[in-house]
Amino acid sequence: MKNIKDYNLDSLKEELKNLGEKEFRAEQIFKWLYIDKVKSFDEMTNLSLDLRKILKENYDICNFKIVKKLESVDGTKKYLFELSDGNAIESVLMEYHFGKTICVSSQVGCKMGCKFCASTGIPFERNLTSGEIVEQIIAVEQDINTKISNVVFMGIGEPMDNYDNVLNAIGILNNPKGIGIGARHISISTSGIVPRIYDLADKNIQCTLSISLHSANNITRSSMMPVNNAYNIEELIKACKYYIEKTNKRISFEYALAKDNNDNLKAADELINLIKGMLCHVNLIPINKIENGKYTKSSLENIIKFRDYLNAHGIVATIRRELGSDINAACGQLRRKNLKETSI
Ligand code: SAH
Repeated sequence: MKNIKDYNLDSLKEELKNLGEKEFRAEQIFKWLYIDKVKSFDEMTNLSLDLRKILKENYDICNFKIVKKLESVDGTKKYLFELSDGNAIESVLMEYHFGKTICVSSQVGCKMGCKFCASTGIPFERNLTSGEIVEQIIAVEQDINTKISNVVFMGIGEPMDNYDNVLNAIGILNNPKGIGIGARHISISTSGIVPRIYDLADKNIQCTLSISLHSANNITRSSMMPVNNAYNIEELIKACKYYIEKTNKRISFEYALAKDNNDNLKAADELINLIKGMLCHVNLIPINKIENGKYTKSSLENIIKFRDYLNAHGIVATIRRELGSDINAACGQLRRKNLKETSI
């Protein structure tokens, strides 16, 4: 069965046309799904009984079941959702002064193999469909009974490795006739799949691009992130410059500081030389140690020194607040092993 939430408004109109229905029915269905958030076609009372019957016979409405919900002392909430095939994914809701931000997963597992990330070492299962990406937002909005204002693709998975479904999901999220979260409120984070950065630039959809850089040195970066062997730093930065030129949007470079690895002033100098003059800012993250991981957090003193050094050299850098660390919801801590253990 097809999932009705996999369709954006245009493809839903097309689908209804093929069923011999008027296009405006698609807008009605969109409203039911994303504004009223109904869970069955029977509740779509302005559709004819015949149409409801056809829809029921041909489409599913993907509704996530919350298997587990954990709440941090800082207000961060981590959700574990069960998918229709028995797989499980996690999403994290964070409270900021500007509103609520959800960190969504894009895949069940991840192929990228970053050495510091908890998703590594667990087999990749599959891509999420667009509807499964969108449903993370709907299910959480329903749970908290409040609108979510920002979406970041920083949960499990590499969004650029599920490019088509992620872009289609963004199209669904953007639509003002439904959820209505503007592209400017959506960030895609990538480990650096260069061809997709060019593709995204050419789409010019005005979402924020975050690059998980973590080192400006090819040897260090390759030792942390195997993707650097496929697309090195020079190729990555060239693609980023193209993105900025095309979209006029500021890029965000993520830099997780690991003790005695990428946190000294020589590394900071390499970073400054690499990105000087670019329309960008640097997000410094104290690296979270994972089980059996070789990287440990830099001291706060060191992180502040690193930030101040970048700022003094004209690079805007901020330290990311650590949220949800007491519930394993902080950066890089979402892992499928936990999911399997808890999803019984
Ligand atoms: N695959 C995408 C998105 C998921 S990871 C990407 O690589 O960008 C989201 C962010 O968390 C990335 O910046 C990633 O590098 C970072 N991250 C992963 N593990 C981490 C850890 N243990 N500590 C701190 N940040 C981590």
